[in-house]
Amino acid sequence: MCELNCNELVKYTYFRGRVALFSILKALDIGKGDEVAMQAFTCVAVPEAVIKAGAKPIYIDIEDNGFNMDSADLSRKLTSNTRAIVIQHTYGIPANVSLIKEISERYSIPIIEDCCHTLSSTFSGKSVGTFGAASFYSFGRGKPLVIGIGGSAKANDDELNKALMQQYNVFISPSSLRRNRIKIQYFASRLLFRPSIYWKLRDLYDLLSLFKIIDGNYESDGNLDDYRLKMSLDRKRLLIKKLDRIDSHNNRALSITSQYRSRIVSNLIKHPEYPNNCYTVFSRYPLITDSKREILLKARKARIEVADWFATPVHPLKEAEWTKVFYEKSSCPRAERMSNLVVTLPVQENVTPRYIDRVIDFLNMFDEKNSDCF
Ligand SMILES: *Cc1c(COP(=O)(O)O)cnc(C)c1O
Repeated sequence: MCELNCNELVKYTYFRGRVALFSILKALDIGKGDEVAMQAFTCVAVPEAVIKAGAKPIYIDIEDNGFNMDSADLSRKLTSNTRAIVIQHTYGIPANVSLIKEISERYSIPIIEDCCHTLSSTFSGKSVGTFGAASFYSFGRGKPLVIGIGGSAKANDDELNKALMQQYNVFISPSSLRRNRIKIQYFASRLLFRPSIYWKLRDLYDLLSLFKIIDGNYESDGNLDDYRLKMSLDRKRLLIKKLDRIDSHNNRALSITSQYRSRIVSNLIKHPEYPNNCYTVFSRYPLITDSKREILLKARKARIEVADWFATPVHPLKEAEWTKVFYEKSSCPRAERMSNLVVTLPVQENVTPRYIDRVIDFLNMFDEKNSDCF
């Protein structure tokens, strides 16, 4: 069952997830001279919003063999200027909220939960998005519920709720040109997308967003005008419709990931670990492997949807761009290492049973006893 109060997710809706985070930071009065702690092994959207708000991101390493923030490294890196901690539930696996919350309470630093990868996972029986001062969501490509592009924010106390509402009044709707472009993009990808053409479509997407024909996930020069925009009404209506069906969405995701989990049995591939006090609804199913490069190369040829993200500590920024978002090389060694080890599998609605079999057969080929395969 959806523990989530879906109405809360359609109250403050924005052009993108990162704009929702930006608005939360503003509502918390975070800006110049302030630091915001976030994990490395994240999407550039997160530091981009922090920088746009005028603050500085500080990067916390991830847990050993995990994908989420390491609380010990958080303790080490907090300073007297740290004004918020962003907790990311990577791929839908809940972060260790209780350890991080302890630190946040000790130093009175508010938590903002990045729920862009999951709406419904729980930690100790409580839904993600209820642990901090606020949380934010994304409904773009690759997220649990896709409406084209969009985000939302939720505050967990009255004062912040009021501040968010005041903020919200200054956001404007996207132009009709932009609205239509997003609509067309959404319908085209619904119509065209099959996991087997993932690689072709991905190349096309990268090309089109390079030439600014479509809104890509990652714009390295940041379209900063986007930070004034809220979600258009037609996207909001679609979001409400999708939220209505979230239970069936979750059931599908659970059934697909349980097949990956039980049937992928290669000694070169490790399944993700997560604590058993968590209910985990994955948005992508991650695998850890030393053969990342080989698997990606072969997957492209075999037309199997295996994604590489996060391929860098601040995805998709390459090393030369890290300083732009204040990431210092070697400051989060585990995040850097994991970027070279992780591949992720699809769980979205157009993954058919036959396709699941293909993915599983493909991955089971990567095994020491078949090492002549690669
Ligand atoms: C996608 C994503 C976001 C926000 O993305 P938008 O494109 O701004 O909607 C934030 N955090 C993480 C971890 C993400 O993957």
